[in-house]
Amino acid sequence: MDRLLLEPEIVELLRTAPRIAVVDAVRESLAAARTRRAGPPESWAADVRDRLSERTRPSLRPVLNATGVVLHTNLGRAPLAPAALAAMAAVAAGYSNLELDLDTGTRGSRGDHCRAPLRAVTGAEDALAVNNAAGALLLALGALAAGRDVVISRGELIEIGGSFRIPDILARSGARLREVGTTNRTHLDDYSKALDPNVAAVLTVHRSNFEQRGFVATAEGGALAALCREAALPYLIDVGSGLLADLSPWGLRDEPRVVEALATGADLVLFSGDKLLGGPQAGCIVGRRAAVARCREHPVARAVRADKMTLAALEATLALYLEPEQAVRTVPVLRMLTLEPEELERRAVRLAAACPRSLDPKLEQGRSAVGGGSFPGADLPTTLVSLDAGALGPDGLALRLRLGEPPVVPRIGGGRLLLDPRTLPENSFPAVGAALAEALRE
Ligand SMILES: *Cc1c(COP(=O)(O)O)cnc(C)c1O
Repeated sequence: MDRLLLEPEIVELLRTAPRIAVVDAVRESLAAARTRRAGPPESWAADVRDRLSERTRPSLRPVLNATGVVLHTNLGRAPLAPAALAAMAAVAAGYSNLELDLDTGTRGSRGDHCRAPLRAVTGAEDALAVNNAAGALLLALGALAAGRDVVISRGELIEIGGSFRIPDILARSGARLREVGTTNRTHLDDYSKALDPNVAAVLTVHRSNFEQRGFVATAEGGALAALCREAALPYLIDVGSGLLADLSPWGLRDEPRVVEALATGADLVLFSGDKLLGGPQAGCIVGRRAAVARCREHPVARAVRADKMTLAALEATLALYLEPEQAVRTVPVLRMLTLEPEELERRAVRLAAACPRSLDPKLEQGRSAVGGGSFPGADLPTTLVSLDAGALGPDGLALRLRLGEPPVVPRIGGGRLLLDPRTLPENSFPAVGAALAEALRE
């Protein structure tokens, strides 16, 4: 132990790591050498360095997503645009006017920072950004319906994933669930019959992550809004993904856009910041002034408030939408979703060229997925790089890739390892190639 700690290469490690961490790594290396059949490592210093970097490695770190799932919930959903990163870094590095009105020098409201851009891109009267969409729904229901009934279709009592269930959130908000209609069909009439003095609001929820086909019916949004207006009840729509851009030219339809939901005449529209909007984790509430004001003033607003980095990134992302054509190019999620098949093929050729020959890289036609519970039936053709994992098998190679640095998360299909260039940064292909080579070496 003492001798190892005097080795020049190990002494060198002490310059960048705390002594206690280096000593622990040396101890671990010695213990491993005693129990390993092959005996001591080829290089003590290299072994200690590896163990040290493993110990000091952060838990949360970047991953290369080769799955082709654009909004991968397990991989952090939406990557941010450079403008959002810059805004976040600028605000995080120092102090900011988070809650200071610079004009008057008096206390300002953090809610003001995203209000104008949210109104500008949606056309809503008022807006509020909170920590996430689940929080937005909890807040809106609590503010508008606590202690009273919320009418919702039986076909929309859904689970979004990650233990987010509409009936549970509704119960937690203090509101009572009033189910109407059936699983597959709910008519305007079902809603109108339910509207009695105990009802405080009507809620519709987008079926984000599944489709219903066949003998199905839902009440039309405009008619439902008119019914609520007549009954002087707020109508809330949880659209989920926060789609602001029109992606129909790319064949991506059937996902409600925020502006369309507002156009029905809804009082509040709720959506996520880090799904199709392509911004940071956030929950956006847009709609009529009076309804948004009730949300802003409710005590839960404090519990679900967004932090300064979120607000900075959201404001900067929303600014990109002021030029819709620019947004499709500069918001990474939209850029990935709208990549042309020819471009994906060109990228696949370059990605395949970066892969070790021994893996027999081949091109294969396949499909990417939007993910994040959006566009559940979308068809996104892509070109995959397909690899023969040999004796390791695709699962074995995938495991080694996940444990590498940086971790690479591939897909498996037809007994081969598949890489989808759609979700890989263009400049990451050499790193993917190097990760594969490293995985084969071990
Ligand atoms: C994803 C989703 C949510 C939850 O959004 P988070 O930002 O993850 O909290 C709520 N409602 C719908 C319809 C969704 O699709």
